[in-house]
Amino acid sequence: MSGPIVGTVPAIAVVGASLAGLTAVQTLVESQAVSQITVYGAEPHLPYDRPPLSKEVLKGTWDVERCDLAPVGDKRVVWNVGTEVVGLSAGKGAAPSLRLGDGTTREFAGGVVIATGAAPRSLPGARLPGVHVIRSRDDAVGLRADLDARPSHVVIVGGGFIGAEVASACVERGLRVTLVETQVAPFERVLGAEVGWAVVAEHQRRGVDVRTATAVAAVRGTHRAESVELADGSVIAADVVVLGLGVTPCTDWLEGSGLTIDNGVECDASLLAAPRVVAAGDVARWPNHRFGEFRRVEHWDNAIRQGRHAAQRLLAEHGHGAVLDFSTVPWVWSDQYENKLQVVGSTFEFEEAVIAHGSVEEQRFVALYRRGAHLVAAVGLNQAKLITRYRRMLAEPVLWTEALAKAEYSGAPQR
Ligand SMILES: Cc1cc2nc3c(=O)[nH]c(=O)nc-3n(C[C@H](O)[C@H](O)[C@H](O)COP(=O)(O)OP(=O)(O)OC[C@H]3O[C@@H](n4cnc5c(N)ncnc54)[C@H](O)[C@@H]3O)c2cc1C
Repeated sequence: MSGPIVGTVPAIAVVGASLAGLTAVQTLVESQAVSQITVYGAEPHLPYDRPPLSKEVLKGTWDVERCDLAPVGDKRVVWNVGTEVVGLSAGKGAAPSLRLGDGTTREFAGGVVIATGAAPRSLPGARLPGVHVIRSRDDAVGLRADLDARPSHVVIVGGGFIGAEVASACVERGLRVTLVETQVAPFERVLGAEVGWAVVAEHQRRGVDVRTATAVAAVRGTHRAESVELADGSVIAADVVVLGLGVTPCTDWLEGSGLTIDNGVECDASLLAAPRVVAAGDVARWPNHRFGEFRRVEHWDNAIRQGRHAAQRLLAEHGHGAVLDFSTVPWVWSDQYENKLQVVGSTFEFEEAVIAHGSVEEQRFVALYRRGAHLVAAVGLNQAKLITRYRRMLAEPVLWTEALAKAEYSGAPQR
């Protein structure tokens, strides 16, 4: 059997030198047909892993270098880190081309992989020293230095996974922490009130002041952060403020590109955004037919799977391999203290949640989520084995009634 002819796919660019971009590169170099891959990354670093930044790095148990991902040593790959791409021209039958900050333009006849991820949302006053977001390696190093100086009060704005992980790292360092969240219950939209409160129970037990239904308007201070101002005008003193307000996809550079940009790069089910242009990771919005959703997924596992799939999709543009849809069961984890939280499937717009195994009191449970007549997600706290089972089960549609019957249903329905 003969393989693809060596070097027949012209030069390809990968924009974004992180998890999705790296995985795309790893996949592309497996094909002898690929002639050259140029990677552009806005950060001055080669690819590294982000999950440990808000966990081991902040706690101080890992040096940040331990997050580095193994580089791809293939001589067909050129890494341009510290180089931001400022424009893309795609479609109209021409080869896609990229515009760099120095005004130069370069054509990539083999195509472009868009893997520019997402950037944290901000607040007025966010530029003051002492105010942090945590997305990049440099962000983590900056925040860790401020925590090393033993601030008297850390205020975390936003009670999502990142905010909760930062709270846990701060508490383990012996710091005083307040967590401020706009929703009535923590994680309410994503997990439902009962599960949300169960997740923050350990924070409260360890002394975190959890304030829900509380919006923050701005960070205040003269030379550095001194307080956060709440929407009702009251203030909380703070010498370190961490903003965990979620992220927005990095698509500014794609304005006027000819692609459809709408809360991310809009792709078809195969991750194709335009002829010879694919997208992967936090930036990509695509129809996930398994869950009937057209959304982005901001998880580590998704960035890897999509990076691989998008690269294969690009090769299929050149006649190498089949065009396949990308469909997945999303999976995300979060480590807070000794607790391991995992979410498999999609809780998006769930209609009902029940604790199906264990109990919130013992901090060991699995909650199941229903949308329509189907099980759509399982959330486990300290239940790794069961969650692995649900992850496998969710690969195919599962009727809610069947899921409950199998789970030896033991809890009262709740939302
Ligand atoms: C602190 C933290 C903890 C996390 N913990 C978990 C976890 O426990 N579990 C989990 O499932 N997920 C976790 N995640 C999410 C996970 O890390 C992301 O989903 C993943 O990093 C997405 O990878 P990506 O390659 O799509 O995007 P990113 O990792 O955001 O990388 C995109 C890269 O593109 C670069 N870029 C942007 N614009 C341009 C441009 N115009 N030109 C060139 N380069 C550009 C950016 O600088 C960046 O380096 C965490 C994320 C963070 C920040």
